[in-house]
Formats: sequence, structure tokens, C-alpha cells
Amino acid sequence: MPWYSTVVLRPFLRRCWPIFNILPRFNVDTTYVDGTLLENFADAIRPNTRIIYLESPNSWSYALQDLRAVADLARDHGIITICDNSYCTPLYQRPIEMGIDLALQSATKYIGGHSDTVAGVLSGSSAMIKKIFDSEYLNIGSGIQPFNAWLLIRGLRTLSARLERVSATTPKIVDFLKHHPQVEKVLFPFDVTFPQYELAREQMSGACGLLSFYLYADTRQEIVRFCEGLHHIMMAVSWGGHESLILPGCASLLDEEFNPDNPAHRVLRLYVGLEDAEYLIKDLERGFESM
Ligand SMILES: *Cc1c(COP(=O)(O)O)cnc(C)c1O
Repeated sequence: MPWYSTVVLRPFLRRCWPIFNILPRFNVDTTYVDGTLLENFADAIRPNTRIIYLESPNSWSYALQDLRAVADLARDHGIITICDNSYCTPLYQRPIEMGIDLALQSATKYIGGHSDTVAGVLSGSSAMIKKIFDSEYLNIGSGIQPFNAWLLIRGLRTLSARLERVSATTPKIVDFLKHHPQVEKVLFPFDVTFPQYELAREQMSGACGLLSFYLYADTRQEIVRFCEGLHHIMMAVSWGGHESLILPGCASLLDEEFNPDNPAHRVLRLYVGLEDAEYLIKDLERGFESM
């Protein structure tokens, strides 16, 4: 069994979850809302609301927030907005131009581009960045090593070429999956069937190589067989590098916890890397045959 099997992923994912318990220890309350509807933000604002934290598109269902509208609403209430922009990268979406205060990137993903560096980038006005740099960053932030910074600069030089490549190959994979009888549906923001397709076209100038699809499966083992039947696409978290990766939602479940009526148990997140579309489609066919 390969080291990246679902058996290994399960305890890994469970260990990650306690992160949601950290903010309450600092007396920070959090309200989660469905960000696809603006009124949910308006309804959730309280006198002590300081920050609205966004991720558009998010990196499993690709749900979008209307960035201009949320930024306007927040500004009227003196609330700071932060948008995780890792999916689009600054080349395909510019949150700050839409009124968002701070944009952040997991540079581990597309900016590094080769799955060999962990880093993040935060952008905003000089005043805001100076405030964060002088206090939180210098005191509790983690500084980047020169070599890792050099890798990121190198990654930036090919970012546009890599994104152009995945923009050409990913729709072919989406098309293949959409028409496969074992697939219930595909989620990809630039696909015409995507629920927020219009908004995606309006605020994003491109979509990347990350998509999700729902398999028809009665047991978790069928999904395990699909993933382990792939010869090229590795099962792993993360994305944005040169190689294609797959992450099944059921990695965090035991066989007996699997419920085929729950679509979240049958979802797989596929990251399309820099390989040929035809090569990846052949690999996916191997997965379907293994089910
Ligand atoms: C991976 C990821 C992160 C975390 O980034 P790291 O660089 O791995 O710490 C944050 N946001 C999104 C959308 C991600 O995909």
C-alpha cells in the first residue's frame, strides 16, 4: 500500500481539525455563513464584528462570494475584509481592486508551483501591512528562509505559462468526467453548469486546475479502489504543483461510517497538474475500471 493511501490520510485530517478550537481561547467569536448569499453576511454582522474572512472560490465546492458586494457591505460597517485568493492566484483574480482590504495566497500552491516549498503571501495597503509586520509578523510570524523565497521568485517566472497550460487542459478533464456514467456531477467554476458560473466569469479572469466530482458508489471501498487504481495521479493533499493529485472526501471516514446518500462522502477533489490531458484521462479510465 502506498504511503499516501487513505489509511494514512485519515489520522492526518483528524489532527488538523482542532485548529478551529484555537481562536476561542483568545476570546475571538466566529460566525460561519453560507457566503453565496450577501444577506447572510448582513444578517451575521454583530456589534463586535471586526473581520469578514473569505475564500473565493473555496477549494472543495468552489463556492464564490460576491467580492465587490461583500467589500461594500463591510466598509459601511467599518469591518476589515480578507480574501484567501489561492485558487485564482493574483493573475486570475484581484480582490484588492474589488475593494477587499487584504488578499492572501498559499504560495505553497501555484506561486511555488513545484510542491517543494511552504509559504504564504499577504497583500494590502502599506499601512495595514506595516502594522501587521511590526507586531504579529515580527513577534509570532514565521519568517521565510532565503532559499524558499528564491524558489518562490523562480516559481513566479513561470506562473503565467503554467496557468495557461492548466486553463487549456482542465476543461478537457471536466468534459471527460461530466460524460462518464460513473460520475454524478462535476464542480468547476468555469463550467456552464456551475451554480455561480455568471459571477465566476465576472470576477475571475481564469480558473485553475482544481475541480471536484461526485462518484456513484455504494461503499467506501469502491472509492478506495478508484484512487488506488490510478497509476499516475497520486493521492495526497495540497495542489498547485506540477503533478496531478487526488483527494477523496471519504479519506476522513472509516468504511462503516460511509453513507452513500451523503454526497460529501462520494466527492473527490482532483488537481490537474501540467501533464497532457489525454494522459490523465487514460489514468482516470484505469481508476473507473478498478471500481
Ligand atoms: C493549502 C491552502 C492553504 C494553506 O496553505 P499552506 O501554504 O499549506 O499553509 C490556505 N488556503 C487555501 C485555499 C489552500 O488551498
